[in-house]
Amino acid sequence: MSANITTVAVIGAGTMGSGIAQVSAQSGLQVVLVDVNDDLLQQAGAAITANLERQVDKQVLTDAEAAATVSRIQTSSQISAAKGAQFVVEAVSENVELKRDIFAELDQLVPPAAILASNTSSISITQLAAATQRPDRVIGMHFMNPVPVMPLVEVIRGQDTSDETLATVTTLAEALGKTPVTVNDSPGFVSNRLLMPMINEAAYCLLDGVAEKEAIDQVMQLGMRHPLGPLALADLIGLDTCLAIMEVLQAGLGEAKYRPCPLLQQKVAAGDLGRKSGRGFYDYAGS
Ligand code: NAD
Repeated sequence: MSANITTVAVIGAGTMGSGIAQVSAQSGLQVVLVDVNDDLLQQAGAAITANLERQVDKQVLTDAEAAATVSRIQTSSQISAAKGAQFVVEAVSENVELKRDIFAELDQLVPPAAILASNTSSISITQLAAATQRPDRVIGMHFMNPVPVMPLVEVIRGQDTSDETLATVTTLAEALGKTPVTVNDSPGFVSNRLLMPMINEAAYCLLDGVAEKEAIDQVMQLGMRHPLGPLALADLIGLDTCLAIMEVLQAGLGEAKYRPCPLLQQKVAAGDLGRKSGRGFYDYAGS
């Protein structure tokens, strides 16, 4: 039961890892946040502090609660810092080899009873579990972006995920203030099998000159009540992550409709990854 979980390690301190660390610490868990990139670790710490300060300004949190939350997060550039964790959420870049290596390493490192969860957007949980000796304790725990705001956690059962692991993750997600929805292991799960082809098609609309980017986004915002248009949402997610998800859909489902849009490929090749790099479909310089 997650009531017994007091220590969590989050591997990867990017867009998602920093949010997962924040909500975990806000729920009273001790958090170790690990990233190979020291600059990103510092940026994550600054982003978490800024988010908490905004909540203090809005009187959602007290100063003391914000300070206590920050004090529960320890950062490290060494994965060995995750050693004592009872629960690990992996949130490194969307790359199957990288994730499998990390799962294999974590399997050697953390206590045998610990659960290894992945925040992957699309990669097979069963494939990640096969890199460990504990496939029954491997599961998908797919938070949405921005993590502190979005209520859903898509929980993905791998082939060998046990009922006990599923129950623990469900309880933990609820303790973090989220609503877990359980799905089976299939490329992109439900969330990105639906969302990412729409984003990819929006990129094709732009490439084909169907409309300007602002018009494409407005159609979906004003016409379908989407809070963000698909191109602005792609920039929020990260264009590298969007491309990686399309590649998983294409490889796993094998249909032409999942072909990544060449415009998406070109932007990623240019290093225009969206908000996190300062430019994607839109320009964020100075914001
Ligand atoms: P990101 O690019 O913002 O961050 C990835 C982080 O992983 C980087 O800070 C990088 O330094 C770190 N990293 C790389 N190799 C590492 C290693 N060996 N050890 C430790 N850290 C390492 O990516 P993100 O958007 O946070 O995505 C992370 C995961 O979450 C991906 O699997 C992605 O598909 C998934 N996800 C993303 C979103 C989104 O909207 N961005 C939403 C849901 C799920």
